[in-house]
Amino acid sequence: MNPSILIIYTGGTIGMKLDPHSGALAPFNFQQIAQEVPELKKFGYQLDTVSFSPLIDSSDVTPDFWIKLALTIQEHYDRYDGFVVLIGTDTMAYTASALSFMLRDLEKPVIFTGSQLPIAVLRTDGKDNFISAVEIAAAKQSDGRPQVPEVCIFFENMLFRGNRTTKYNAEQFRAFCSPNFPPLAEAGIHIKYHNSVIRYPQTWGEPLKVNTQICCDLAIIKLFPGIQEKIVRGILEIPGLRAAVLETYGSGNAPTQAWLIDALRDAISSGVIICNVSQCQTGSVSMETYATGILLKRAGVLGGRDITTEAAVAKLILLTGQYSNNEDITRMIDTNLCGEISI
Ligand code: ASP
Repeated sequence: MNPSILIIYTGGTIGMKLDPHSGALAPFNFQQIAQEVPELKKFGYQLDTVSFSPLIDSSDVTPDFWIKLALTIQEHYDRYDGFVVLIGTDTMAYTASALSFMLRDLEKPVIFTGSQLPIAVLRTDGKDNFISAVEIAAAKQSDGRPQVPEVCIFFENMLFRGNRTTKYNAEQFRAFCSPNFPPLAEAGIHIKYHNSVIRYPQTWGEPLKVNTQICCDLAIIKLFPGIQEKIVRGILEIPGLRAAVLETYGSGNAPTQAWLIDALRDAISSGVIICNVSQCQTGSVSMETYATGILLKRAGVLGGRDITTEAAVAKLILLTGQYSNNEDITRMIDTNLCGEISI
C-alpha cells in the first residue's frame, strides 16, 4: 500500500507572499502552496491536508496552539503513516519540543518543516524542505515499521530531533542546529538515516496518548554581569510563579553574591521549581565543577544537563501542568523523557 501522509499547514514564511497593501509577508492558502510543488504527486503517496485557521506567523504560537496541533495529530493518527507540519521557523524549536512531550508513545514520524524564503520565490528553500520532509515521514524500515518515529525538524538537508534544536540563523537557509545531539538523518543523493541515534519504541503497538495539561506560570531569567537583586526577586516573587529557567554561565555557574543565592533559595522554599540551563549552546550543566555552581545546587536549583532553553521551557510547561507535587517534577526534570537530555 502506498504510504499516506497528513500535511498540517499552520502558516509561516513557507506559505507567505507579499501583501500589496501592507508591504509585509502574509500567509496564503494551501492550494497555492500545492501548486508550487507539483513534484509531490510523483511520490505516489496519498497526501491529505489539514489547514489551520487562522494561518499564523509562528511568533503568534501559544501553548493552546500546541494543544490544537497535538489533538489534530491524535484525531488522524490511525489513518496516516506519518505527519508533516508546515510551520514558521521562529518558534518551531519550541513547538517541536512541546509536541515531543505531549505525544506519548508516539510510533509515527511527525516532521516539522518550513522555510526561510516563501515557496513561491524562485530561490526558495521551501520546496526541498517540504519534499524531503514528506519522503522522511513516509520512510519505512525493512520490517515495514516507520524509519523515524519521532518529532523532528527537517531543515536544509538535516533531520534533527525536535527537542534538541534551536533556531540560530535568521539569514541563512541552515536556520537550525542541534548542538548537543547528532542529526537523525542527512539528505544528500540519498537520505542517510542514523539508526543508532533514532529512538524506537521498546514495544510497538501502544496507542498514542496526548498530554494536554499545561501551566504557563513560568519565567526565564538570563544572568548577566550587573543583574540586580530587585529584578531577580521581582521575577521570582511573582504570585503564582511555578517554575523558572535560570540561564547560567558556562557549565552552570552564577555569581556567588549572597543575595542571589538567598533569592533562589527563598523562591525554591516557597515552591518554585528552578532549572539551570547553560547560556552556552554546546555542553552540559554540571553544578559540581565550580564553587559558583555548587552554591546553586545547595540552594536547590535543579540541573538541566544539556537541555536547550526551548526544550526546558516546553518540559516545565508540561510538567507543571501535569504534576502538582514538586518531587515528581524534580524527578522528571532529571529523567530523559523523549531524548531531550543526555544521561
Ligand atoms: N516569522 C516567520 C514565522 O516564524 C518566519 C519563518 O517562517 O521563517 O512564522
